[in-house]
Amino acid sequence: MRWEFATAQRIIFGPGTVSELTALAPAFGNHALVVTGANPDRAKQHLGALEAAGVACRYLSVRGEPTIDLVREGAQAARYASFVIGFGGGSAIDAAKAIAAVAPNSGEPLDYLEVIGLARPLENNPLPFIAVPTTAGTGAEVTRNAVLGSAELAVKASIRSPLMLAKLAVIDPDLTLDVPAGITASTGLDTLTQLIESFVSIRANPFTDLYCLDGLGGAVRALPAVYSNGADRAARADMAFASLLSGLALANAGLGVIHGFAAPLGGLLNAPHGALCAAVLPHGTAMNIRALRARASTHPALDKYRRIAALLTGNSEARPEDAATALATLSNALNIRPLRAHGLTAAQIPLVVEKAAAASSMKANPLVLTPHELTAILDCAL
Ligand SMILES: [Zn+2]
Repeated sequence: MRWEFATAQRIIFGPGTVSELTALAPAFGNHALVVTGANPDRAKQHLGALEAAGVACRYLSVRGEPTIDLVREGAQAARYASFVIGFGGGSAIDAAKAIAAVAPNSGEPLDYLEVIGLARPLENNPLPFIAVPTTAGTGAEVTRNAVLGSAELAVKASIRSPLMLAKLAVIDPDLTLDVPAGITASTGLDTLTQLIESFVSIRANPFTDLYCLDGLGGAVRALPAVYSNGADRAARADMAFASLLSGLALANAGLGVIHGFAAPLGGLLNAPHGALCAAVLPHGTAMNIRALRARASTHPALDKYRRIAALLTGNSEARPEDAATALATLSNALNIRPLRAHGLTAAQIPLVVEKAAAASSMKANPLVLTPHELTAILDCAL
């Protein structure tokens, strides 16, 4: 067996670590493009000292999830920047990562996008990129892809390159303390989905398995705690760590059917990525287990689902199927809404199934699901 592992050049984790940026960022140059969520105020508050340290900051806000047009515009704005900081949730970080990648290259975003673009490799190194997540989360601070939406094609796809890994990721769990309960639930279930899908992925390796098992244990304990009490600092730190672990795992092991669906659903519906993953998670898990039992009963993923079930239920005798049941119970407890609440209709299901089958995440699912099985997942998640 051969495997490899790649991640951000430097990772700093811990409460209060955001203040270390003032000392660390000037090493990357004296002009920063700072990409934030809809409200740049908090980034300005934390990065204000950078100006005094001699770094001129220009701010770009991202409303909703990043689009091809936004990255094109951001790459123009980054022409005079020496580096890019992504300060915010997964959307701000992915936007910053894509802008840093496209800015020093001659093409436009579609030239480098998978699935809907030309998937050309980057010819030049990206601008140095610093990631500061404020949700837990997508783990996007340590992944090598940026997910962009295309309004015209109603689908999401990635720019992906090992060159896109952050030079520095600063994960300060205290930045997540004021995330509202609904976003805490959907981003936390995205973390859980990523840990589960990377663990059972056909590209999982012994190194990513360690991250998944530790992250799953932490997320299962901490997610209900941060949902009921957002000010629980220890539980927020556990979720920030689980999110980091999920990013480390997925960047090296890939994902599966649930993220395969999240790509076309995210393009079609105006709903956050985590909310869509959360709605599909119990049903995609149940179908994978059923298909493994029917067609690949000795597949190692089945034993991994058994271990996931044991972690989720606290019962060492749990069966793989208990994982799906426990995930449905958790989604209910966290008030996750079905896909129809985000606007999906039964008539749209065949198109979503067709696009999901071609999504890059689907390639790492433990086995190939039939169109009939994919349809059944969405019927249940609707
Ligand atoms: Zn995700």
